[in-house]
Parts: sequence; C-alpha cells; structure tokens
Amino acid sequence: MSQPVLVMKFGGTSVGSPEAIARAARLIREQARRRRVAVVASAMSQVTNRLLATLDAGARGDSATVEANLARLRDKHFAACSDLLPPERQAAVRARMAAILQDFGRIAKGMLLLRERPPRSVDEAAPTGELLAARLVSEVLCAEGVESVAVSGADVIVTDAVFGSAAPFLDETATKAEEALRPLLDAGKVPVVTGYNGSTRDGVPTTLGRGGSDYSAAIVAAALGADALWIWTDVDGILSGDPRIAPDARLLSEVTYNEAAELAFNGAKVLHPRTLAPLAEMGIPVRIKNSFRPDRSGTRISGQVGGREGVRAVTSLSDVVLISIEAANSTLSGAQLMSRALAAAARAKVEVLLLTRSSFRQNFCMLVHGGDVETVLESLRGELALELAHGYLRPIGVDRSVGLLAAVGEGMRGTPGLAGRLFTAISKENVNIIAIAQGSSELTIAIVVNQNDLRTAVSAIHSECGLGRRTERAIA
Ligand code: ADP
Ligand code: ASP
Ligand code: MG
Repeated sequence: MSQPVLVMKFGGTSVGSPEAIARAARLIREQARRRRVAVVASAMSQVTNRLLATLDAGARGDSATVEANLARLRDKHFAACSDLLPPERQAAVRARMAAILQDFGRIAKGMLLLRERPPRSVDEAAPTGELLAARLVSEVLCAEGVESVAVSGADVIVTDAVFGSAAPFLDETATKAEEALRPLLDAGKVPVVTGYNGSTRDGVPTTLGRGGSDYSAAIVAAALGADALWIWTDVDGILSGDPRIAPDARLLSEVTYNEAAELAFNGAKVLHPRTLAPLAEMGIPVRIKNSFRPDRSGTRISGQVGGREGVRAVTSLSDVVLISIEAANSTLSGAQLMSRALAAAARAKVEVLLLTRSSFRQNFCMLVHGGDVETVLESLRGELALELAHGYLRPIGVDRSVGLLAAVGEGMRGTPGLAGRLFTAISKENVNIIAIAQGSSELTIAIVVNQNDLRTAVSAIHSECGLGRRTERAIA
C-alpha cells in the first residue's frame, strides 16, 4: 500500500511575487514535515498572458514587442531568483531559466518568420511560465532543506491532441505518474509539477486550457490516488458570488462536487470547469484556501454536504454568444435540426452552455463561449449548407450582446416557487430575460440576459436569496 499523498496547487497570484513564492514554500514545508506532498504550480500571475501576447506579436510580425517581452519575462524571473535563492545557487538557476526562455524565444521567432501561430506550437510555448515558476518553487524548497525536484506536466499527464484544450487519458496518466512521481515521493522528495500542460502519447506538448492548472492538480491527485487536494488561491474559498460583482459575497465553508462543478462551468473563475470530475469519481476531498491568509479554513468540496436549502451561490459569464437557428417553415423537423446542430457543435469540440427550444416556432438557441463562435458557425454552416442555401432555414442568428447567469445549489431541488422568485427579482430591476434553462438535476437555474444587465441581475439574485454577508434572511 502506498502512503497517503497530499497534492497542493498554487495559483498565479500565490506564486506571483518573490514574497508569495516564499509563503508558498513555507506552506509546503509545513505539510512536507508530516506527510508526502506533491505540488502543482501555475505561472507567476500575468506571465501566461504576456507569453501568449508575445506569440501574437510574433504572428503579426512585431519583432520589437517580441524582444521587449522576452526581456521583461527574463528580468522578472531573474529578479525573483536573486530575491529568493542563496547566492551560490543563483547562477545555475538563472542558466536553467535562460534555457527555458530561449526555447520560448525560438518558437516566438519562428512565428515571426511564418507570420502565423500554429496551435501546436502555441501549446509547446505557453507552459513556459509554469516551467519557470515550478523551477523557482522547487529551488526555494531545496534552499530551505526540503528535497524537491521540478517536473514538467508533459512527463506526467497524457492527453489527446486537442491543442489549447486537451483532455487527459486518466489510466495512462496514472501509469506515467507512478513512474515519474512515486519514486520521488517514496524517496521523501517533493515533486513540483508544472500546471497547465501535458503531452500526447507521442510526446507532443499540449495544454489543458486557460486556468488549467487546477485541472492539472486534479489529474495528478487522481493519478496518485491522493487523499486530498488543496488549491491555494487569492480568495478565502468559494464565495456566494464573484467578489468583483457582489462585494458582500459570503464564504461557503462547504460545497458538493456538483455545486462546485456547476459554479465553475457557469463562470466562477476560482476553479477550472473540468477540475472536479476526476476527483468526484474517486471521492478525493478538495479544499480551496487563501495563500495570503492560510489560517482561514477555506471551502471544503466533497460528495455530501448537510441540509441546506435554496440557492447557495450565483455566478455569471459575460463572454458568451447566443446562436439561433430557425426553420423558415414547418417542413423541417425541429428535433432533427436540433440534433444535427448539436452534432455539428460536438464535432467542432465546442461546448454548448445552454440550449432552449420553442417547438411552436421551430426554432432553438444555443449559448456558446465567445471564443468558440467562429468555429461553431463554420461547423453549423457546413452541416446545414443545403437548408440555408435553399431558404428552408433563416440565416443563423448570432447575438453577441448577451450574458449568462446561474443560480446554483443542491437544495434548490424541491424548493417550490424558487424559479418564479428569481425571475421576479430580476424583472423588478427592469432586466429583460432572454432565455432560461433548468438542468434536469435541478441544481442550476441558468438565465440569459443582456450583457449590460448582467451585474444588476446577479446582484438582484444574490440579495433576493440572502446570500450576502450583511443579510441574515432565510435562504429558501
Ligand atoms: P488562481 O490564479 O489562484 O488560479 P484565479 O484568478 O484563477 O486564481 O481564481 C480566483 C479568482 O476567482 C478570485 O480572485 C475571484 O476574483 C474569482 N472568482 C469569481 N467567482 C468566484 C467565486 N464564486 N468565489 C471565489 N472566487 C471567485
Ligand atoms: N497559467 C495558466 C493560465 O494563466 C494556467 C493557470 O494559471 O491555471 O491560464
Ligand atoms: Mg485559476
């Protein structure tokens, strides 16, 4: 029987400065004294944005920006190195970092020549920030007497070849994690694995999508059969609303995997949407904690949470697009149209966030992420080319002015009149409801409104349901 392992994931702000890295190392050391610990590290905050902007600049032929960004990235990481490491280690670590940045520079300069950014090359270059941060964290641990090794996620997580949003093969990943990580853990060392990246069976580098380090940590935890995953971030845990929209949002001390997954899927940035699935299957409990205030208890995510009623949290997504498809007359079967459109979206690997249908008008709408719009339209236009050309279908409608909000809570099941109350609260603020969907699980009520009304609608539901810190009203 292998010894229990704790996986600790540190997000961008939690390794975003030399002080933050020092704090993260302290938190790791505390745990590593007591048990086996594997760490998953994100890039320092803003670094991934800068890396991707550098690749964009390359594809535009803007060599000045490429050079300037490379210098800034080098300076930032070299400065952290000087602040954090003993003088005798600095030259070696700087040389390693320079090599990592040189690999990145080679790809960015390739894009300058090509004037394009092939997704495969982007995925090779984008995890550079994680490679640098994992190296720093691991070196700081070593300097403090905790034996540690930096490991690339590419040597642990096996994925498909969907660049920019790869999905893991969990069984193969478990085998690879046993090979790459277990011997380190058995030898009392702390592996610091880069978040965000993996590689295909053939070793081609991939990424798991923006914000994907949470997902990396969940995959590593599942692969190692960890007994817990702690996600360290810059808020006290999962809050009843996005603190930027609902400043009085309250900390939720416990939520279920399902609630957390629904919140993440519908826009709560605190967790990457795909994080919970591998953990829920194995019943691995998760804690979300604030690395800036580690004494706070955070949010615990597990299979069951005792009897709470009504809505627990409300979340929103503003970068979404409503696509509507409408038959010009009743000769086309609505159900067939819908199934073909969904199949087209699935082929394009586009996630449909919400689907609503009016059988009377033979029309239906699907909501997708803003970044997926061109891909899904191309696929839909291909699938429905004949019907569109012959006028059986009206031109596909594209509404970019909408936003999605979602009220989430296990206890919404069997709370009569809840949907009506939410709609009334929104309408009282003169916000028009464009579409509604309630999942069959009754865990979420999703509402599409005009993007400009999103904040008002989120606040209205947050206060109607008594979710804020200042309100003591019953929730149901
Ligand atoms: P990390 O870099 O640690 O992964 P992120 O920036 O990805 O951190 O996620 C944390 C942020 O998520 C918070 O700072 C907060 O602004 C935002 N957020 C949005 N909705 C919620 C919510 N319901 N609860 C907590 N945080 C939320
Ligand atoms: N650094 C990556 C990003 O910014 C992954 C992550 O932070 O989770 O998207
Ligand atoms: Mg994140």
